[in-house]
Amino acid sequence: MAEIYLLALCLQVLIAPALYLLGYSTLGHLNLVCVLAYVLALRLHRHLWVALALGVKLSAFLLLLIYGAWVTGSASSVVYCLLFAEVELMLADLRRRTKLLLTVGLAALALGVADLPGPASPPLGFQGHLLTNFVLVAVFAMLCMVMLRMLTITDRHEYRYRRDAMHDSLTLVLNRRAIFEKASTYWRQQSAFAMILVDADHFKEINDNFGHTAGDAVLHHLAGVLRDALRGEDDVGRVGGEEFLLLLPETSISEALTVAERIRIRLARRPCQFGGQLMPVTLSMGVACSGEGEQLQSIIELADRRLYAAKSAGRNQVVSEGHIESANSRNAGRLSRGVKDALQSESG
Ligand code: GH3
Ligand code: MG
Ligand code: MG
Repeated sequence: MAEIYLLALCLQVLIAPALYLLGYSTLGHLNLVCVLAYVLALRLHRHLWVALALGVKLSAFLLLLIYGAWVTGSASSVVYCLLFAEVELMLADLRRRTKLLLTVGLAALALGVADLPGPASPPLGFQGHLLTNFVLVAVFAMLCMVMLRMLTITDRHEYRYRRDAMHDSLTLVLNRRAIFEKASTYWRQQSAFAMILVDADHFKEINDNFGHTAGDAVLHHLAGVLRDALRGEDDVGRVGGEEFLLLLPETSISEALTVAERIRIRLARRPCQFGGQLMPVTLSMGVACSGEGEQLQSIIELADRRLYAAKSAGRNQVVSEGHIESANSRNAGRLSRGVKDALQSESG
């Protein structure tokens, strides 16, 4: 929108000398007022007063148009300008209902202006008048509908692109970047949260025994179990091949431990079925909470060390205490690939 304002501003400035040269000095003065109004609208728009900016701009523009139509008696050029105003209105960040209402206003104005008698225009007669007015209203209605439809399609595409950029296509949970961004946001806002790092046990064997497609089905099933076990405000993200990170806002470590155990039990009760075959898989998990470290990185590393402690202790279990060491401890070398990559991109 700011670009449209700038373009309109340039056009108005360019038109100014022509108005004075042709002897329309009052129109020229009004044109300069219009330019000032555009500058004001641009400033308002930059400060996010979107509706007010558009109101200022359109009011000045319409005033100039109506006066111009009255002085020159040229109705058709004013109607073209009103059509431009309609396009501008449609592109503005306003509610659909407001746009429709303002479209009706602009169309009514166009009808009024079109009725002004021009110096050289032959009389139209009643039927001619009716037809012209009908066409004018139809053009406004069509323009409004086409633009609204176009905006709906653009919004839908934008929504899809955003969703795809944030989600893992196989499991449909958040992808690594999105879940770590979420964790960073909590950390920056100093909100308390718990995290659970989940890794499927001996997952390679599933691929080896049943094939990669079956492995994919298990990952999809696993993500579903994780999602179902959480509250609406919790998040699940896939941070590596068979690794997931769960973020639980306003959750203590003992509550997170209960959630993790519930997930383990649910998965045991609801194993993945693929091609008529059961493919049970167990999970190892490391739990940590935001109060356990000075930096987000050290919390993630702590969850990761606890996950590996769960692996070392025989897998299919949750570890939620101990292993508090410095971020650069020797255990950092055992970090899982997903977490290691994420930490590298965080620090990069
Ligand atoms: P551990 O209990 O120590 O975690 O053993 P693991 O076999 O689960 O761990 P490992 O890191 O040795 O193997 C992970 C496997 O996950 C290997 C890789 O082929 C598989 N994997 C990673 N991403 C995908 C995927 O998108 N689809 C499928 N089917 N398999 C995947
Ligand atoms: Mg792993
Ligand atoms: Mg694994």
